[in-house]
Amino acid sequence: MVKKHFDVIVVGCGGMGSAAAYHLARRGKSVLALERFNIPHAMGSSHGVNRIIRLAYYEDPSYVPLLRRSYELWRELQRESGNDLLRITGSIDASHEVGEVFGGALLSCQMHNLDHEVLTSAELTNRFPGYRLPDGHLALLQPEGGFLMSEHCLVAHVNGALHAGAIVHGQEQVLEWQERGNGVSVRTTRDSYEAEQLVLTAGAWNGALSEELLPLLSPERQVLAWFQPVEPAWFDPAAFPVFNLTVDEGRYYGFPVAGIPGFKVGRYHHLGEHIDPENFDRDPHPEDEAILRSFTERYFPAAAGPVMSMASCIFTNTPDEHFIIDRSRQHAPVVLVSPCSGHGYKFCSVVGEIVADLVIEGSTQHDTTLFGLDRFN
Ligand SMILES: Cc1cc2nc3c(=O)[nH]c(=O)nc-3n(C[C@H](O)[C@H](O)[C@H](O)COP(=O)(O)OP(=O)(O)OC[C@H]3O[C@@H](n4cnc5c(N)ncnc54)[C@H](O)[C@@H]3O)c2cc1C
Repeated sequence: MVKKHFDVIVVGCGGMGSAAAYHLARRGKSVLALERFNIPHAMGSSHGVNRIIRLAYYEDPSYVPLLRRSYELWRELQRESGNDLLRITGSIDASHEVGEVFGGALLSCQMHNLDHEVLTSAELTNRFPGYRLPDGHLALLQPEGGFLMSEHCLVAHVNGALHAGAIVHGQEQVLEWQERGNGVSVRTTRDSYEAEQLVLTAGAWNGALSEELLPLLSPERQVLAWFQPVEPAWFDPAAFPVFNLTVDEGRYYGFPVAGIPGFKVGRYHHLGEHIDPENFDRDPHPEDEAILRSFTERYFPAAAGPVMSMASCIFTNTPDEHFIIDRSRQHAPVVLVSPCSGHGYKFCSVVGEIVADLVIEGSTQHDTTLFGLDRFN
């Protein structure tokens, strides 16, 4: 007989949902994880080869303990899956001296006693010749920064969840859910199910599944480009730390060549296009390339060769760009999980653990003060 009743249903099997299913199943829960597209796919927020992970957290120092646990869990997953998921390159956080990126990263290092070095633009270029930052910029080098192979991580979490007994379905969209008795009922494009608890990890589509989240989430079109370096050796992972960087043109991030050919670069809040994830222009256009190319030509000139690939992707922004991870205030059996605003991937592993804590224990030892719903009241 097909199983229809579960301890937990996880809606969305992207970065966060795959991690949540993995941790819940390993802690003995019966789990159904439902994904509307393929597993993995390139329609949401977790594709595009890799994602930066870094300890020097300019966004807020209180993320650092979560990051430490995240690193531990990614390394465990790497060992267990036998795949190369995490690559350490060091991370550069740079801006004008008073800028938020450098200053915030330095504060995190000082508060949490993280190894770091401060480099002028000239010192940075001396050490890593791919970089050509303006005079007056300061760069913080933190040796434990690097990147995660995000699609491989997602697959490793799904395989681990399956191994621990979770049921995972691709190509099955959740159409609606309702609170019923002490649990929930869920209707999909293929079937109906019941569960004691529901975890919404639907990324850019979370607003369509939760009236509580809808006014708080703003999905935004992003574009990534991979340019062929003119000096390939300078953009090898052994010679080029990942970066976050504020310049006159905005805030950008980038990677050495890895996974597919090309130096990868993106601009936070690319062209400021707020979108409906159900219906938006996913194709990259010349104006998307132009904005990333002019940045690369100015600050990484030896990387500004022909374009190799481009991809669009979605940020799901909250008003303060901190995550939402909390139990619903309107539906007791529902946990709402929206950790994006352009910086969530590195936390997937620890978010999976937090979700399992919330579902199983009703609370978590991790400090999630920054992520509560009540801050929006
Ligand atoms: C261009 C770009 C660059 C980024 N760079 C970084 C970085 O360097 N470092 C970093 O830490 N973070 C980064 N981020 C942020 C990070 O990638 C996201 O925080 C993370 O991927 C969000 O994962 P998610 O699980 O919430 O979303 P997703 O991975 O999109 O998963 C949501 C899933 O829910 C599914 N779904 C939706 N509705 C339904 C439904 N009704 N039924 C069933 N399934 C459904 C979707 O198909 C999707 O698979 C970046 C994001 C983007 C877009």
